[in-house]
Amino acid sequence: MNIILLGPPGAGKGTQAKVLQEHYHVGQIATGDMLRAEVKAGTKLGMAAKSIMEAGALVPDDLIIDMLAHRLSKPDCRHGFILDGFPRTVPQAEALDAMLAEQKQDLRAVILLKVDEDVLIERIAGRFSCAQCGAGYHETFQPTAKAGVCDKCGSTEFVHRPDDNPVTVKQRFTAYNQQTAPIVPYYQARNIYYEVDGMADLDDVSNAIEAVLRKVGVPAQVAEDAG
Ligand code: AMP
Repeated sequence: MNIILLGPPGAGKGTQAKVLQEHYHVGQIATGDMLRAEVKAGTKLGMAAKSIMEAGALVPDDLIIDMLAHRLSKPDCRHGFILDGFPRTVPQAEALDAMLAEQKQDLRAVILLKVDEDVLIERIAGRFSCAQCGAGYHETFQPTAKAGVCDKCGSTEFVHRPDDNPVTVKQRFTAYNQQTAPIVPYYQARNIYYEVDGMADLDDVSNAIEAVLRKVGVPAQVAEDAG
């Protein structure tokens, strides 16, 4: 199954993509996470992307498309993928279609997580992650079980994304509204587009996404080696 999670910054794409990845055993691809790893490693791509990301703008299509093409060729994508943060422009959506056509594959569903802007701002303001393992938390909605200690790895160091500050967040919303929102009609025209209430509880959002996947013929749970 190849699916795309769409939605503005803070809509919960990353959280839901990780839930789906665990259930369906397909590749989870978050282009934002990939770029942050490139920045951290100081690669050429990372150096090109850093200031653009800090400004809340979009990294040029050609760089992102190359990065994605490379990622799709990895073994964990052989039974499909969940994309989070890609495509973000119509040319990216077109490039993805071309890559899939070449591999005689298609998109099963494009699912938009709908969340009001005031809720997005509240979510982004409270989010942080473990500096060691990257596990994501939220001060109000998803705190660590024990204050100051990561549930997953026990680390006591946490970080906030540099682009989660109010000025950059505003810019990221502008980029979403101007450059990413036009993707919706692109997919609507294809009968693979669905919307889910992203303001519901985390489990309810996961259930709604899985209901869409059942509707489009994805079995409830794909065995690890079954595809
Ligand atoms: P995210 O973690 O998805 O919010 O992405 C963080 C930042 O990475 C964005 O604000 C962009 O600067 C950059 N980025 C991530 N994915 C893309 C993409 N598909 N196209 C262009 N820029 C991207």
